[in-house]
Amino acid sequence: MNQRGYHQALLDCVMVFVTARIVFKSLRVAIERRVTDLKTWLMDILACPAENCRNKLEIDVYTQHEIKIDDESVTEIDEALLTCPKCDRWYPVIDGIVCMLPDTQRMEGKQRIEETKFLRRWKDNIPSRILENGTPFGLSEE
Ligand SMILES: [Zn+2]
Repeated sequence: MNQRGYHQALLDCVMVFVTARIVFKSLRVAIERRVTDLKTWLMDILACPAENCRNKLEIDVYTQHEIKIDDESVTEIDEALLTCPKCDRWYPVIDGIVCMLPDTQRMEGKQRIEETKFLRRWKDNIPSRILENGTPFGLSEE
């Protein structure tokens, strides 16, 4: 990777991280305001980031936990799978962070390892079309 590509990748990662933190921070605020349907609310703000797609994503929550904020119980999502019905891409939520990097940055290195671990961890819950031929990758290409 050349210098420019490296900086762009770094910037994209930071942006995704910042976006994810904002999403989850607003999520917490929204729940504090007693938004009852967590999934509907989250789905209203999350769109597929793939170029020429921007379709609404679907979510399947695998683990979540309750925390107390000012004596109110708040639900936080730990691990979930986001899928795009239009372009068939999938995106993981790992440890409360939404991972929505461009395909090229998911295909190699640390990100690929983390996302592959995610697929293995939830292989009994993830639809087989994603496990077998997910976009940008599944488990069968290993
Ligand atoms: Zn899409």
